[in-house]
Amino acid sequence: MLRENAWKKYDSEKLQEMNRFCDGYKNFISECKTERECVSFAVEEIKKAGYVDLNEVIAAGKELKAQDKVYVNYMGKALAMFQIGDVPMEKGMNLLGAHVDSPRLDLKQDPLYEDSDLALLDTHYYGGIKKYQWVALPLALHGVVVKKDGSVLNVVIGEDESDPVLGISDLLVHLSQNQMEKTGSKVVEGEDLNILVGSIPLEGEEKEPVKAQIVKLLEEKYGITEEDFSSAELEAVPAGKARDYGLDRSLIMGYGHDDRICAYPSYQAMLALDHAEKTCVCLLVDKEEIGSVGATGMHSRFFENAVAEILNAMGEYSELKVRRALANSKMLSSDVSAAFDPNYPSVMCKKNTAYFGKGLTINKYTGSRGKSGSNDANPEYMAQLRKVFDENNVAYQTAELGKVDQGGGGTIAYIMANYGMDVIDSGVAVQNMHAPWEVASKVDIYEAYLGYCAFLKDVK
Ligand code: MN
Ligand code: MN
Repeated sequence: MLRENAWKKYDSEKLQEMNRFCDGYKNFISECKTERECVSFAVEEIKKAGYVDLNEVIAAGKELKAQDKVYVNYMGKALAMFQIGDVPMEKGMNLLGAHVDSPRLDLKQDPLYEDSDLALLDTHYYGGIKKYQWVALPLALHGVVVKKDGSVLNVVIGEDESDPVLGISDLLVHLSQNQMEKTGSKVVEGEDLNILVGSIPLEGEEKEPVKAQIVKLLEEKYGITEEDFSSAELEAVPAGKARDYGLDRSLIMGYGHDDRICAYPSYQAMLALDHAEKTCVCLLVDKEEIGSVGATGMHSRFFENAVAEILNAMGEYSELKVRRALANSKMLSSDVSAAFDPNYPSVMCKKNTAYFGKGLTINKYTGSRGKSGSNDANPEYMAQLRKVFDENNVAYQTAELGKVDQGGGGTIAYIMANYGMDVIDSGVAVQNMHAPWEVASKVDIYEAYLGYCAFLKDVK
């Protein structure tokens, strides 16, 4: 069961290839800090590679055939890309899936208020976070404001060197005697995650003059009224780019590795595929961090509908064929795994944990309290994957998320398994999962990409 450190198999040429890939990834997570930004970025890139919007195919009444490449951009927040295979779709597809939403602080619908000559924005955190990690660090605001006329304003404030940054205060240590006695979950409470945005009073304004100043600034600079907040999705995220981490630059620190670190290599593997024997699919979904709910989460029917539309555009639609296509599919549901951390060894079972540098992580099951909520993959399927990864010289490791009864987590795997298809959890190991700055190994990112390429090509 010895898993070699994957760095050992890299010669200088392969190292270069890996670094080039990781530079692309760093750029991706530095540019894309919301689900919308990820989807727009990927769509621009895949269009250049010949992918066509499925809605355009349908509108034009065009017929789809083997090797055609189509995508569905669902509400700007989820993406499905298909390269149609030579084998009939009802024989099943090879699916790569990952999520592009990440933990963050969302602005409330009516967020702006004034207190003691300061203007602040009220937030509601999204996903599971240690709230105390999100104070006293530079935050940027990303998202959209939709005006009543339907026009969409893209907002990115705090990323450019010349931009201001925002942030949430922490209590000074000198006065923290009571705070330091609290449990971790109460040290900073959800309602105290308020973002400071201004402190200059508007001249001539009697009532809430600092807030009035910010309202004026938003109107003049961005064309946003205070009421427009009610139809906005604005996400406060850590400001700044992803960077190399470690003196040897072997790791990457960045915001949102979970789960863009699986999303990026997944769609890149689709772009690297020249011939699809089975229909190959990459699914990038939203809302995983809050239970895969909503129209753009994995519980939504948008993917199933896309499969039906594609079969229809191939002149082959039937309800039965849709069901067969889904049931006969094989999927790598990719999400981050916990990397062994020598600072916190007590929560890990050493033989069944993921390690930095040991490649793509495969989790037969996730879940908590006796595998509850898990998709427990079939060993027959795992055996097939072992063969494909070994034949393609992909470094991989098997792992669980921590010790039994220490906690746990879920992914989108169990949802896709509802169709009766073979699904297994896979992905990249990270430290600091769900912290503002997460850490992952470059070699693991690249091995994940190689694993996804092998999966699309060789899984029958
Ligand atoms: Mn995740
Ligand atoms: Mn997560």
